[in-house]
Amino acid sequence: MSNVRTRALAESALHKAERFYEDNRPVSDYFGMNVFDLPKMQLYLSSQAYEAVVEAVQSGSKIDRPIADQIALGMKNWAVKMGATHYTHWFQPLTDATAEKHESFSDPVKSGGGSFENFKGSTLIQQEPDASSFPSGGLRNTFEARGYTAWDPTSPAFIIGKTLCIPTVFVSYTGEALDQKTPHLKSIAAIDKAAVALCRLFDKNVEKVTPQLGIEQEYFLVDSALYSARPDLVSCGRTLLGHTAAKDQQLEDHYFGAIPCRVMAFMQDFETEAYKLGVHLKTRHNEVAPNQFEFAPIYGEANISSDQNLMMMIIMKSIAEKHNLKVLFHEKPFAGVNGSGKHCNWSLVTNTGVNLLKPGKNPRANLQFLCFFSSVIRGVYEHNHLLMSTVASLNNMYRLGGNEAPPSVLSVFIGETLTRLVESIEALPDGNLASVTDKDIKVRSKMHIVNQIPEILPDNTDRNRTSPFAFTGNRFEFRAVGSSANVASSIFVLNAVVAEQLVRFKDLLDKYMDQGLSETKAMMKVIRQFLKESDSIRFEGNGYSEEWRKEAQKRGLKSISVPQAFSEFTSKENTALFEKLGIMTSREAAARYEVLNEIYVKKLQIEARVLGDLVTNHVIPTAITFQNSLIRNVKGLKELFPGNYSEMCQMQINLIEKISGYINTLHDYVHDLVEARKVANKITDVPKKASAYSQTVFPYMEKIREKADKLEMVIDDELWPLPKYRELQSFR
Ligand code: ADP
Ligand code: MG
Repeated sequence: MSNVRTRALAESALHKAERFYEDNRPVSDYFGMNVFDLPKMQLYLSSQAYEAVVEAVQSGSKIDRPIADQIALGMKNWAVKMGATHYTHWFQPLTDATAEKHESFSDPVKSGGGSFENFKGSTLIQQEPDASSFPSGGLRNTFEARGYTAWDPTSPAFIIGKTLCIPTVFVSYTGEALDQKTPHLKSIAAIDKAAVALCRLFDKNVEKVTPQLGIEQEYFLVDSALYSARPDLVSCGRTLLGHTAAKDQQLEDHYFGAIPCRVMAFMQDFETEAYKLGVHLKTRHNEVAPNQFEFAPIYGEANISSDQNLMMMIIMKSIAEKHNLKVLFHEKPFAGVNGSGKHCNWSLVTNTGVNLLKPGKNPRANLQFLCFFSSVIRGVYEHNHLLMSTVASLNNMYRLGGNEAPPSVLSVFIGETLTRLVESIEALPDGNLASVTDKDIKVRSKMHIVNQIPEILPDNTDRNRTSPFAFTGNRFEFRAVGSSANVASSIFVLNAVVAEQLVRFKDLLDKYMDQGLSETKAMMKVIRQFLKESDSIRFEGNGYSEEWRKEAQKRGLKSISVPQAFSEFTSKENTALFEKLGIMTSREAAARYEVLNEIYVKKLQIEARVLGDLVTNHVIPTAITFQNSLIRNVKGLKELFPGNYSEMCQMQINLIEKISGYINTLHDYVHDLVEARKVANKITDVPKKASAYSQTVFPYMEKIREKADKLEMVIDDELWPLPKYRELQSFR
């Protein structure tokens, strides 16, 4: 018996571990070879042009056109020497994906024929892709479809394949952001300004503060033949049906387990290419769910880390192709097992090399740390709903809130030592910390395990995997961001909420000093005030527990729900925050709201259609085929044993009936699903349509799945046409 599934299984059995991009040189020999970084600029640019780029990177100064011409020439010479034939302005529309339109370097020679490689400064600086096919949330009408991409010199150009990719922002004809990078860059400027003003009180040499990001990326791998046999994976990136496998992650044997050979070969190829793109990949490991994995690079400047993460997603997909694998970045590709996120490790570092979130050996004495630490918590508290709304999406909704992923309520975990410190600060009205001892805050001492094992020094923050926003020693880790998201869409809000408090910190400090307090006392007063004001966002317990759900409600912390959470972008306080810091106008925020709703509707629309097709074209016909074989069996037995066949056929007859029941219910549900969609589709107001989809269409998805999965359990395995969970979740 051969069907799509069995053929896919046979094909996947032939897929073996193989290397395609092996490079046996030491990594240091080829690291960054595909990036137009500073050392290459030094080689290919005049010293004047080189200095202009360095200035732009360091202090945000503008690059004028004549200099841009020189930079374009150097960039082109390097790229052509590297074998590039095309260039593209690489940008980040509001879809989470990246966009690229390739242009050839080749131009005709005016007289005498032939061709030459051409690339002007004006082309480097600005391009005009047709903006009409990207989501704009009403920022652009079709008659003013123009949009511009503009070069971001702070993120170096790179080569993928034979194309030079130039990171750019993407804005409308009127200059409004149509992308994720623009607000991110603006938020970086805002937090820089606010943080420098505060840092200067401690060190006059501080001129710049830059948010740092280290992004842990989780993903799933599936054999490409099995993937192709699952229309839901192909069209939606997740399985809409499928009974859980008897064994998946219960034994907790996959996390950190030995990496399967085929996956290892893929990872090594991916890493080789990542190194060539100047990305310092540091860790790789098996994640909790079967066929789930993770990598993390070394952290770096937020804008660059964010771009690099998107680059990695692109090359992972193309390298996986060679390995007959598909990478799933979807937040919840499989029901019943863990989903994937992107843990965003975030900190602030000065140009003098100080990490402002590093408590050091003695956090009590580290006033600068306390200023920033308290401002982050205060900011996260103030706009916790907005921050959570940035991770709200149809995909991530399937993941958040389960007992395996960050809860849907935002809280901040800081660990025992810092909790004690915070409590001590709150308890001291005059803010005099001199009386607090190490013992009070229980600073941990070295541990000796057994003779031959060297002493270990425990961290002052323990790990709490159930917290969506945790302090982890020298940084905060925002864990609720989805694995398919562009992190810029969350991080720009994090930067904004912290920048707002840093400005407020300085204002209050000045006020208290005007009232006669010394600088130190005034600082302690603000720190204490910030910590007290944000008390209710701190939670050290189990974020998955029912008690916390109740407690959070009491504290007024809302659980995000999708699509309602999108409306955070239209609230007065939130738009005021963006406008005040020059990150976004209220019109841009409203456009974002519109786009988020639009994407939600479209994704759910696709899922509903695919599910309807799967049930009608795969599940029901298979059920009928199997039911027919049962009927034939009953008829045959009746012929042979006319006297006692009904006793002999009890199981078959029951099953025939049961299958009919499932088929009829499924048919009815699919009919109702289609009707609900038709009604919702008539609504023109996008947010209202999204809400109708979530309330009237969405409930059928789970109902249908439940019955279809029941059928999968009773139907002859040989007949079932869709690769099963146990097959999708394993590697040979
Ligand atoms: P975990 O133990 O949380 O799983 P990983 O080693 O997988 O950690 O990843 C931690 C990530 O945090 C890495 O990308 C790392 O570079 C990053 N990171 C470490 N220190 C900082 C910091 N000060 N600021 C931002 N990111 C950091
Ligand atoms: Mg981590």
